[in-house]
Amino acid sequence: MTALPQFVCASANPDKVAEIQALLVGIVDLLPRPAAVPDVVEDADTLVGNARLKAVAIVEATGFPAIADDTGLEVAALGGAPGVYTARYAGEGCSYADNRNKMLRELSGVEDRSAAFKTVALAVWPDGTEVAFEGVCPGTITTEDRGSGGFGYDAIFAPNEGNGLTFSEMGPDAKHAISHRGRAFRGLLDELSRRA
Ligand code: IMP
Repeated sequence: MTALPQFVCASANPDKVAEIQALLVGIVDLLPRPAAVPDVVEDADTLVGNARLKAVAIVEATGFPAIADDTGLEVAALGGAPGVYTARYAGEGCSYADNRNKMLRELSGVEDRSAAFKTVALAVWPDGTEVAFEGVCPGTITTEDRGSGGFGYDAIFAPNEGNGLTFSEMGPDAKHAISHRGRAFRGLLDELSRRA
């Protein structure tokens, strides 16, 4: 049996790690992020720039190839915000619920609630080689929290291909099939297998 390629997961967010693991199971041997590596300041102004900061920090600390992702929610009525500021939309140290509540307040009475989740999945090797792929999931922002699954903005994001359900109202497999992260990692894997 051929050994699976080993990558260290550069994400420290357990919700994202669980999704990345599910998407890569049986294809990549995903090693956990070493706890001793300090958190990276994600101060790039693009998703790919932030994913690169996270991946390169892990490659430099471990000498192993690393996989990172960075996600942004772009809301049309907010001119594409919060984008790269999605994690800290309601301020440094805010909770997922703080972010969702701020979004619902900002869009109160707004008719155009169209939005898109974007994820860049990126692999970096110790020799500096890099492969990246962006996955996009268009949808709308609901007017209230709906559902209990998932994380982050899932309870207020209804993907266009989700039959009216929010990500929180669908199971993980249904989310992965159409989500920004599912698309980004499937695209990255296609790209990697083309180069193998
Ligand atoms: P990050 O910068 O890639 O960690 O992601 C930014 C923020 O986007 C996270 O803190 C979450 O609030 C949110 N987020 C990322 N992925 C998802 C998702 O799949 N569903 C809902 N929210 C997400």
